[in-house]
Amino acid sequence: MGTIPSETIEQIAAANDIVEVIGSYFPLKRAGANFKALCPFHQEKTPSFMVSPSRQTFHCFGCGAGGSVFRFVMDYEHVDFPSAVRKLAARAGITVIEKFPAGGAGDEERQRELRQRLLKLHAEAAQWFHENLVKREVGQTARKYLGTRGITVEIAKRWQLGYATDEWDAFGNWARGRGYDVRDLIASGLVKTKDDVASSPDQATSGAKTQRSYDRFRGRIMFPICNDVGEVIAFSGRLPQDEEGAAKYLNSPETALFRKGGVLFGLDKTKRALIEVSCAVVCEGQLDLISLFEAGITNVVAPQGTAFTESQARILKRFVNEVVLCFDADTSGQKAAERSLDALLQNDLIVRVAEMPMGEDPDSLVRREGKEAFEKRIGKARDFFDYWIERETANVDLASFGAKMQLARRLAETVSRVRDPLMRGEVMNKVSARLGVTAQDFQALVARQRSAPFSARDDSFVSDRTGASAPAPRHDISMLCILALRDETARDFLRQQNWTEILAQMPDADILMRILESDFRAGDAASLNAFMVTLSPADERLVSSWLLQRMPPNAGAMVEEWWLGIRQAVLRRQLSVATNQIKLSELSTGDIINLQKQILDLQEQLHELSQPAGAADN
Ligand SMILES: [Zn+2]
Repeated sequence: MGTIPSETIEQIAAANDIVEVIGSYFPLKRAGANFKALCPFHQEKTPSFMVSPSRQTFHCFGCGAGGSVFRFVMDYEHVDFPSAVRKLAARAGITVIEKFPAGGAGDEERQRELRQRLLKLHAEAAQWFHENLVKREVGQTARKYLGTRGITVEIAKRWQLGYATDEWDAFGNWARGRGYDVRDLIASGLVKTKDDVASSPDQATSGAKTQRSYDRFRGRIMFPICNDVGEVIAFSGRLPQDEEGAAKYLNSPETALFRKGGVLFGLDKTKRALIEVSCAVVCEGQLDLISLFEAGITNVVAPQGTAFTESQARILKRFVNEVVLCFDADTSGQKAAERSLDALLQNDLIVRVAEMPMGEDPDSLVRREGKEAFEKRIGKARDFFDYWIERETANVDLASFGAKMQLARRLAETVSRVRDPLMRGEVMNKVSARLGVTAQDFQALVARQRSAPFSARDDSFVSDRTGASAPAPRHDISMLCILALRDETARDFLRQQNWTEILAQMPDADILMRILESDFRAGDAASLNAFMVTLSPADERLVSSWLLQRMPPNAGAMVEEWWLGIRQAVLRRQLSVATNQIKLSELSTGDIINLQKQILDLQEQLHELSQPAGAADN
């Protein structure tokens, strides 16, 4: 990933008014010079979320969330910084050109260019497949099939569904005709070579390879898989009818764009609804998801494949606290639900299960019963452990102590995977009550499981979106930060002092040093936004809170006063270090003389500083 030049970031910030941007997500009410709303980042009844049109920042006095327009898009849309920049750039019609370090551009630059070409190829391929489905003769069977599943042309358009014809080289032929290099086609995973692994010398020439390449997806309905910002990065192909020896679903392989198990189908469309209700309805297939979404149940996700991976569960946890699994009632659906469980529990998601009636899946059910009835089923979905205990106990004679303990041990293993101690405690109580074993006995079983090696979990990913701000530095430093952020005169004054040397001796002046070494212009909101994106989220929250504080009227005089205070504090600190040192017993006479000189010197400097303004200068 290259870096985006700060001028570009500033330009994008200037072109995106924060009130307009946030106002496009939810309504803002004017409150004096600012705007306010209920905070989207925590639950509240009275608004403490403020947006400042003059500062171009937001800040919540309830949970501490805050920052620039980029921070808002990152946190609200759950996207990373480059995506937020691209989104806002697109909104304002600005082209983002990323810079790459000179010399080291090689590999990274090549990778980036490859990804760009693959994105373009995927976008065009999706369109071509789509036209096969809706416009061309070849798509007729697939159209008919989708029709029987309630997929209208409008729905097919909205999800850009497509059809890959049942030929060996139709796609490859079309793509080469569009000028795509066969190596890129292979890198995209859309085209395969006959001998991917063992290639004989005569195949090494690209001419031979061209002849031997063939389409991965043949005779399949194509579902584009999109990334966070809605760009097509892979495909899932489904056979319109069961075929002997062929997999019903076929996904793109891992490519420079697509990591298997790292993408949730439809998330780009459903994430707004997920955040709103903090609950995800999980269904198995793409068609299920589309049917539910089109029926108005929009908080849906579908894992690619059948079970949740750890990284999918982690992505989901960023949006919701609870999932309702509604897999098919058949045993394979239940197995998939159980396989998903570990990843979900380890991410502290509350899991409920909505059982589909025998022979139904979410798709058929929502089309037969309608939205309300389906929502009722979701509402009535049972806690996973209730469901599970019932299923497990159905075949166990609970009157037999041995059988009961065996079951308890199995359940303890699953309960031990719940990471959150509070949630685990609750589940333990429930399960022990249901089984009729004492809570202590069951706890002991769970504890034994937990002491077993447990899969390590990467905590570095945990978002600190609503976490605390960085602790505010001592008051004098905070005051200087506010002045240096907001007043050009104060800022100029500080930048003319030997601040690097002095602040290096203050324990918590890092943030002030960041403010002083940066080149933003104090009165200019866009350049402040560009500065804020360089900070950690915690520091950004701190800065956004400072920006919304009342500004002292006489900044010029205040900055000199506070700066003087800092210099005195630094001298006093040096003085106390020196006086403590001189008390040490094993000093040489030379050391003592030096320290005495130092102390005198420091005392003199302190004395000079406490003279009326102007007298301190030589
Ligand atoms: Zn808040």
